[in-house]
Amino acid sequence: MRVVFLDIDGVLNSDRFFAEHPWPDGASWWSAAAIDPAAVQRVNALVAQTDAVVVLSSSWRKRASLDELNELLASRGLARPVIDVTQSLYRSVDGVRLTRGDEILAWLAAWSGPMVEAFVALEDEEALGAVEPRCVRVDSLIGLTEGDVERASRMLLG
Ligand SMILES: [Mg+2]
Repeated sequence: MRVVFLDIDGVLNSDRFFAEHPWPDGASWWSAAAIDPAAVQRVNALVAQTDAVVVLSSSWRKRASLDELNELLASRGLARPVIDVTQSLYRSVDGVRLTRGDEILAWLAAWSGPMVEAFVALEDEEALGAVEPRCVRVDSLIGLTEGDVERASRMLLG
């Protein structure tokens, strides 16, 4: 199994997207208005090319249930539902601040489904610690690009 750990802010949206799409009056941040359908299509392309599953690492996972997030993402064109979200970890028992990378590693350690042969994290700004070598850094000014998808695809298909 191949896994794409997906951030939302700065990846499925961007400064450019918000500049080109005026914010609807009264829309909540955690809504379809903040998801760029073009970026979602790039995730679809990555998933199709690599037969990967998507796990959300975005802080959006703390705002809505997996079903609600899938409904929202499907409304913006996501072809295959997200299978899970990473755990929320803050500090280790000895008080060390944990990163989104630690949350990804914890998900992988807890996963009991098919063996994960490769994974990649699409992330714009969060520190990933030990997962950094598996990260495709996305530029939040423009969001997920075709070049990012190519890099992620190469990392997944190795
Ligand atoms: Mg982000």
